[in-house]
Amino acid sequence: MLNPLRTVQLFLPVKIFSRGIFMNFELSEEHEMVRDVVRKFARSDLAPVAERMDRDDYFPEDMFRKLGSIGMLGITVPTEYDGAGLDYISQTVCLEEIARVSPAFALSVGAHSNLCLDNLYRNGNREQRDAYVPGLATGKLIGCLGLTEPESGSDSLAMRTTATRKGDDYVLSGSKTFITNAPVADICLAYAKTRPDLKNRGISAFVVESSFAGFRKGKKFDKMGMRGSPTGEIYFDDCSVRGGNLLGGENAGVSIVMSGLNVERSVLAGISLGIQTEVLELAIRYAKNRKQFGTPISEFEMIQEKIATMWVDREASRLLIYSALDTLQKGRGRNREAAAAIMYAAEASTRSSLEAIQIMGGNGYMREFNVERLMRDAKLLEIGAGTTEIRKLIIAREALNELN
Ligand SMILES: Cc1cc2nc3c(=O)[nH]c(=O)nc-3n(C[C@H](O)[C@H](O)[C@H](O)COP(=O)(O)OP(=O)(O)OC[C@H]3O[C@@H](n4cnc5c(N)ncnc54)[C@H](O)[C@@H]3O)c2cc1C
Repeated sequence: MLNPLRTVQLFLPVKIFSRGIFMNFELSEEHEMVRDVVRKFARSDLAPVAERMDRDDYFPEDMFRKLGSIGMLGITVPTEYDGAGLDYISQTVCLEEIARVSPAFALSVGAHSNLCLDNLYRNGNREQRDAYVPGLATGKLIGCLGLTEPESGSDSLAMRTTATRKGDDYVLSGSKTFITNAPVADICLAYAKTRPDLKNRGISAFVVESSFAGFRKGKKFDKMGMRGSPTGEIYFDDCSVRGGNLLGGENAGVSIVMSGLNVERSVLAGISLGIQTEVLELAIRYAKNRKQFGTPISEFEMIQEKIATMWVDREASRLLIYSALDTLQKGRGRNREAAAAIMYAAEASTRSSLEAIQIMGGNGYMREFNVERLMRDAKLLEIGAGTTEIRKLIIAREALNELN
């Protein structure tokens, strides 16, 4: 089957890779082509199941796996590995468009395609790439990233999971929690301490197959939002992992975590941006049609103030996200830009979805109008991929260090 996202790359590769985005952060023609492809999928295939995903905490696994055929799962992976060969801006646009319809589905796509697959591709050697990247890019395999543990969330590097060398192989012991896609995952990119005595510097990354002896899936969580994106626990009960599945060398874990964080934060912020665009449009449409006191409520200045604030929040988020991605792609990204992008966009998406509910009055509070679902989904982005507080610490630290 023709892979539409790969087709975008085939026709316009030079522009995408050499030009980045314009100074005013209008996205390029190529990125808008990606948006069109993803929007078509989201509106035609995903929209009909979005409400069921939330109501029944249902993950449409077949649909997810099929995304590989239109290039969405391996969007940043080169075409020789069955990816679409596009950039991080394209990946963000992709999540933005999916999130307008189902932030939960976007979260699962982001965890698979960025946190697991892109990370594995960037840090894997030839054998590891050959073994796992095509399967993950085509949807034959579903991936997750296992960093968080019951005792180490924000302080993630204080993990307790260990990996002990046994001959050429490793034995992993410990557990991971709150892992997106864990209940359905075939592959987990997992972090464990190979040298607990070295603390943060003794962490390594492993590609662990769910079929490996000692890999056990724990409970699936019942969440307030992002329902339909399966979140669960993983246990490593003396799990044997081949030495060849060590990613990036022994004790290279911290640099692998750190190398992916800015990309992960900026790309996942696209979910918050998508939510903001959707609730803004829903609120505007509603306000124009709903009449009270004989006039559309959009004529009331207090409603207009809300619309204005939502619009400014959305635009500020968009500029922060795409400017962070642009500098990252040019190799100049700093931690605070990515942290600021997701911090602002995540808080703004919660704010805007609450305002959209207010604009829609009683209807906003009803499930059938969708904004309450988007509000519950929005809140996650203030917690996952590092909390708002941790993001503020990062921003403040760099700002303080800049001026002596
Ligand atoms: C739906 C969902 C999906 C997730 N998916 C994944 C995944 O795929 N892979 C993965 O590895 N993890 C995942 N996570 C875990 C997520 O990254 C953690 O929940 C997050 O990092 C926060 O950790 P915690 O929940 O343990 O909170 P804690 O670290 O216990 O934080 C509790 C509170 O204390 C604050 N706090 C902590 N330290 C400080 C400090 N130094 N200064 C000020 N305030 C502080 C926090 O900001 C927060 O408000 C997911 C979580 C959820 C809810």
